[in-house]
Amino acid sequence: MKILSINDTKFETLRFTGTASFGKRRKKTHTLCVRCGRCSFHLQKSRCTSCGFPSSRIRKYNWSVKAIRRKTTGTGRMRYLRHVAVRFKYRGRSKKEESFVIVSSFEPLSFQLQASALWVGYEY
Ligand SMILES: [Zn+2]
Repeated sequence: MKILSINDTKFETLRFTGTASFGKRRKKTHTLCVRCGRCSFHLQKSRCTSCGFPSSRIRKYNWSVKAIRRKTTGTGRMRYLRHVAVRFKYRGRSKKEESFVIVSSFEPLSFQLQASALWVGYEY
């Protein structure tokens, strides 16, 4: 059995890993990622830990279900996808009519029903 002395490096690493050594942490390992916006871009590796930037595919693993849930479809603004269902329903109509339907979806329910009845009458 080896008895550790004060000058032994192993002994020092065992001893000085608490509050005092936190003051020596001045270097940054990660910085903001331009793709996902998290502070996960490793400066030396030049790779994001969160999304895998600059790789073209977004980093994702099925063993982390919660991480997938946090950044899947529907967690953002859905600028394009939230109008797709309406557009599919009223396809074949002019752009003006389609935009009227999208705007009318913010109106009260009774007005919506009237509008949809109007369009059904228009089609058949
Ligand atoms: Zn990223």
